[in-house]
Amino acid sequence: MHRENGAHYPKPTLTALVPYPKGALRVARRANGRSKSLAQFVGLSSMSDNWLIFIPTDPEALPSRAAADKAVELLKTFVPEAYEVLAKFSERTEFHCGCGNWSGVNCPKCGTDVEEWWKDAMDKAWESEFKNLSVTTPCCGHSTTLNDLNYVWPAGFSCFVLEAMKPNIRQTTAEQDQALSEALCLKLRKIWVHI
Ligand SMILES: [Zn+2]
Repeated sequence: MHRENGAHYPKPTLTALVPYPKGALRVARRANGRSKSLAQFVGLSSMSDNWLIFIPTDPEALPSRAAADKAVELLKTFVPEAYEVLAKFSERTEFHCGCGNWSGVNCPKCGTDVEEWWKDAMDKAWESEFKNLSVTTPCCGHSTTLNDLNYVWPAGFSCFVLEAMKPNIRQTTAEQDQALSEALCLKLRKIWVHI
């Protein structure tokens, strides 16, 4: 746990701390009580890096520790040159997106670009620490969740992430993705993260 200014926040993780392009800075300020650049906050200077991450499609879903360990070993065989492969469990729900790959967010029902509305919706959801993700889209009144919006570059909420830092591959195959899903006994969302 990260504690500062009397507030408890989840221990910062890279992907969680770069949750969305503008709001990310607001979250970072809340998390440490003062304004800093996101790069400083996550302990990076001028580094640029890539991560390949997999999160459950269900924000509350968790694999067993044994399944997570198995998935880590499997992913290592898919990205043998990766700097690091890890499975992370978090106490609270975190938002994961492609960061530098961010490409906007649309209504899943009518396709309207809802990014401006979404920033406020994210702030509201953050007040419940992302426990309540229910939203109604402003364009067509569609009842859905923040996890089910149409993120142009994949994004989502989870308490678990399987990640490879500097994977040094272009892409995993559909068969590899399926094998990871089976190892974890979970449906997964794949996100390429660029900082
Ligand atoms: Zn709509």
